[in-house]
Amino acid sequence: MSNSKEELDPHLSSETDRDIRILKQGKKLFIREFDKQMKQLAALLVTISTLPVHQDLLQFYRIAHTLKGSAPIFGYLRIGKIAEELVRVWEWTQSINKDNGSAVLFDMPILESIERSHSALREMTMEYDIGVTEIELDEQRDPSGGSLLGTLKGRLLLVDDDEVLRCYLTRRLQLDDCMVDEASDVESAILLLREHTYDLVILDLMMHPQSGYELFEFLKEDPTLKWLPLIVLSGRNDLNDKVRCFHLGADDYVTKPFQYEELAARIYALLKRTKNFEQLAFRDPLTGVFNRRYFHLQIGQELQRIERYPASISLIFIDIDFFKRINDSYGHHVGDLVLQGLAHLLQINLRTTDLLARFGGEEFVIALPNTTGEQATAAIQQILDKVRLNPVAHNVGQPFSITFSAGVAEWQQGMSVEDWIARADETMYQAKQQGRNRVLLASEEDSLAEPTLSARHVPVPKKRLLIVDDDPILRAILTSHLEHLPISITHAPDGEAALRLLSETVFDACILDGMMPKLDGFTVLEQLRKDPNLAQRNMKVLMLSGKKKEDDMVKGLQLGADDYMTKPFSLVELEVRVKFLMKLT
Ligand code: GH3
Ligand code: MG
Ligand code: MG
Repeated sequence: MSNSKEELDPHLSSETDRDIRILKQGKKLFIREFDKQMKQLAALLVTISTLPVHQDLLQFYRIAHTLKGSAPIFGYLRIGKIAEELVRVWEWTQSINKDNGSAVLFDMPILESIERSHSALREMTMEYDIGVTEIELDEQRDPSGGSLLGTLKGRLLLVDDDEVLRCYLTRRLQLDDCMVDEASDVESAILLLREHTYDLVILDLMMHPQSGYELFEFLKEDPTLKWLPLIVLSGRNDLNDKVRCFHLGADDYVTKPFQYEELAARIYALLKRTKNFEQLAFRDPLTGVFNRRYFHLQIGQELQRIERYPASISLIFIDIDFFKRINDSYGHHVGDLVLQGLAHLLQINLRTTDLLARFGGEEFVIALPNTTGEQATAAIQQILDKVRLNPVAHNVGQPFSITFSAGVAEWQQGMSVEDWIARADETMYQAKQQGRNRVLLASEEDSLAEPTLSARHVPVPKKRLLIVDDDPILRAILTSHLEHLPISITHAPDGEAALRLLSETVFDACILDGMMPKLDGFTVLEQLRKDPNLAQRNMKVLMLSGKKKEDDMVKGLQLGADDYMTKPFSLVELEVRVKFLMKLT
């Protein structure tokens, strides 16, 4: 009760207001005076350093003494402490005999006193800076809020072993409404980074026992901290240091001494830019287009919109043809360039309302609002025509061209996002099977008959090929040459292994080497045709032989081989024969 009465007492409140006003005025006067005193101290320190005269020493001592007494009155406790330190450092001057002449000898503790005064003055400058800022902020205090930096509400981690600087910077940043945590070494910085989430790190390079570089190492290895914005604050204006820091992932490099305003502006710019980092969580880092996660989020919203305002919308699923070959022949780097090139080409040829995302390795999806399946097909067909004609990437002058296969599916009432994507994917897969380098539109009947069937997600059983050869190199070459076909390939290194496999699994075709140790191909074939358990009724057999002897060929064919090739053979020819035997064309 009494409390609320006090609060309501207008007289009391205006009295405290007046006190505050007086204190503020005092502060302002003190700071103005403090500026002059600091300048005097600095000037005196210069003369004392060159020629220490008794009179100058006394004046220096007097100013320090005054400050020691006055600063705390106005609430400047830290300035008072620094002044107190100065007084202590120069105390010895009080016992100098004034009649000793004007020059003071250098065997006094003067050198040490000068050195300590320099650092005390540096601290005072910082305190002054803070004092001025406080007053300025107070005068222009507008209800809409403080500084530009304050609008971002960032949480910063300041890592520096220089306590004075750290303390100063922290308080300046706090005046700008930033949340600041301090660490004096790498170890405590790591502890803080593990515990809290920061928007930005300010890092000193030269620290003990571990240098700032070691924090880089730590940040780099943690995927959640890898992209944390970082400003290096360094006493070294050294080109190598700068370059090294930027290579290690620094976003900015500021050399000491610095102007607070500049540092604050840099922090602001970086924070503002990286606030968009949230967006980056939705972008594919390689190509810059949206990622799968964002696509899912966005497409859900699109469909909700369509439920309210019915319209057509289509989806395109794109997969680069034989992309693995580009990687294998020219390296992953070229593969990456191709992905970037295609993403760019797609992006510039789409409408701004179309949603392009990288779905996986070399797969892209596009959602096209207000677009029918036919229109989407025409659009992507046009892009494919361009891709065919123009290289999508260049590497050291060498152009790289690709083609892609695309499946288009228009959204149908009642279709889930998963079904829809599956349909476009399945249609793309059909385009692959029909020879790649083409665009197919999912037919509506398919969607009615099997709304959730997908070639990928509910795989159409692939045809099986068995390769029986004792030469591992030949098996590997055959496999890598045939694996782009929509088949699954199994190996057997000899006839016995082959028979075992043939008793377990039904194959559509078999490439069988005639000459093998243990059990040769002819024997395998013989057993195969004899043993009803191994019937493999429809399995086609392509015999391979090292011998060009006609006998062998006749023997093979008599035993029931469907085709016969002699080593060395052309891989292209072999592929044609396998496709024919397996009815892949
Ligand atoms: P198909 O015509 O049947 O699609 O053949 P393909 O070779 O394009 O398809 P496959 O799925 O066999 O190979 C895809 C390859 O894409 C395999 C993988 O190494 C590569 N890949 C996936 N992501 C990346 C990437 O970010 N960069 C690079 N350079 N390659 C990638
Ligand atoms: Mg591909
Ligand atoms: Mg693929």
